[in-house]
Amino acid sequence: MATSLPVLDAVIAPTLRAPKPRALCTDCGVSRSETPAQCGSACQFIAPRYEELERATHGRTRDPARTDEMHFGPFRRMVRAQLRAPLEGSQWTGITTRLGERLLETGAVDGVIATAAEPEDRWAPRPVLVTRAEGMTACRGMKMGYSPVLALLEEAAALGLRRLAVIGIPCQVHALRALQPSLGLERLYVIGTPCSDNTTTANFHTFLERLDPEPGTIAWLEFLPNFTVGLRYDDGRTRHIPFLQLPLSDLPPDFFPETCRVCVDYANALADITVGYMGGAGSQWLIVRNETGEELVTLLGDEVATQPVTSAGRRRGPVQALRGALERSAGGLPLRRAPQALRPLIGWAMRTFGPKGLEFARARVEMKLVEAVLTLRRTRPRRLHTMIPRSAWGLLAPYGLTPAPEERPLEGR
Ligand SMILES: Cc1cc2nc3c(=O)[nH]c(=O)nc-3n(C[C@H](O)[C@H](O)[C@H](O)COP(=O)(O)OP(=O)(O)OC[C@H]3O[C@@H](n4cnc5c(N)ncnc54)[C@H](O)[C@@H]3O)c2cc1C
Ligand code: SF4
Ligand code: SF4
Repeated sequence: MATSLPVLDAVIAPTLRAPKPRALCTDCGVSRSETPAQCGSACQFIAPRYEELERATHGRTRDPARTDEMHFGPFRRMVRAQLRAPLEGSQWTGITTRLGERLLETGAVDGVIATAAEPEDRWAPRPVLVTRAEGMTACRGMKMGYSPVLALLEEAAALGLRRLAVIGIPCQVHALRALQPSLGLERLYVIGTPCSDNTTTANFHTFLERLDPEPGTIAWLEFLPNFTVGLRYDDGRTRHIPFLQLPLSDLPPDFFPETCRVCVDYANALADITVGYMGGAGSQWLIVRNETGEELVTLLGDEVATQPVTSAGRRRGPVQALRGALERSAGGLPLRRAPQALRPLIGWAMRTFGPKGLEFARARVEMKLVEAVLTLRRTRPRRLHTMIPRSAWGLLAPYGLTPAPEERPLEGR
């Protein structure tokens, strides 16, 4: 179905209004809109509404009988997946990029809001509105930093685009779902990726400088499920650094911002489909959450190969160990306390006996929740009852973390 729109550039990247920063803010773009006051009802930090928005999006909240929903949010099915012909330059095999392309190729949407890179810095996110499939190429790969994608909803409306897809991380998707009833869209597809440990682009450059004397030649980086950081260079070389040997000792304690330490929706529970890797045991990992998510997978046809998810190992020990390390570090980076001489051995043990596949993903979700609770207790104790949802406390109980009366979630959170 062809759109009746005027011919537009494949990628539109308008100059955005300045943000109106708040104490906890990841610049999702709402504060740059004509009505920044909407932050008050849309923001996952100011007005978190996970249960209510899950019900509105998926028709139901998490089902305790389907235990993985407590970790990953409501879903129909989860699979390991990869494109049979991986897209060069993508973060994994490019399923996310290809979904955007297919939506535009088939005319299912008039535009895709996604994140490209700033022309002078491949790691700096730049929100864009893509109106032709070939424009999705500009969005491949992970950028580190905040991307005010939702500021482009107004641009799309001004252009008369009524059928949209948004590719976003969880804090962006929470605000998008909260705003959705007021957007007047004919159709909205939400393609989410998991997200954790984001930081400013400037901080990320500091990190790259510690990894390599020529940081400008690093073309790809990923925190891999085998407990290493994978690097690929412009000349095609690759390198793997075990987590525990990362040169983090002299990074400032606030290297990872408070926002990302207190964020609880690792798996992007409000997306129609989550495209990640951490439950994929080396492949990509799709969480298909609802009918729209199924429609998206169908768009890929035979281009995508899928396999059942796998799970091995036990997460309890590593999660408990992280809790101890976080408590000892009192707000700093927990890896600083691992004894230098033991790090290679611990790293080997983690890779050999540590959790894998879904168990790795469950461990990462629980670690993030432990960090959120411990951080909020230190920084904003009065926010726990709004920011930590009921489902999270259930996952934390085995680690001895239970809510004090004043920390118990409000109804509907
Ligand atoms: C900061 C960050 C942390 C992440 N952490 C995890 C994790 O811990 N576990 C996990 O399973 N997955 C994580 N992901 C997602 C993962 O990196 C892959 O993007 C995802 O698995 C899709 O791979 P792909 O090959 O399909 O992506 P591609 O086809 O290469 O497409 C990448 C997409 O990511 C979007 N994007 C890139 N950078 C940003 C950004 N800064 N903000 C918003 N959107 C962006 C682009 O719009 C693009 O469409 C993270 C992503 C980000 C941005
Ligand atoms: S809604 Fe977005 S822009 Fe507004 S405060 Fe929250 S993260 Fe920041
Ligand atoms: S970790 Fe959470 S708050 Fe930080 S950028 Fe990712 S989704 Fe947003």
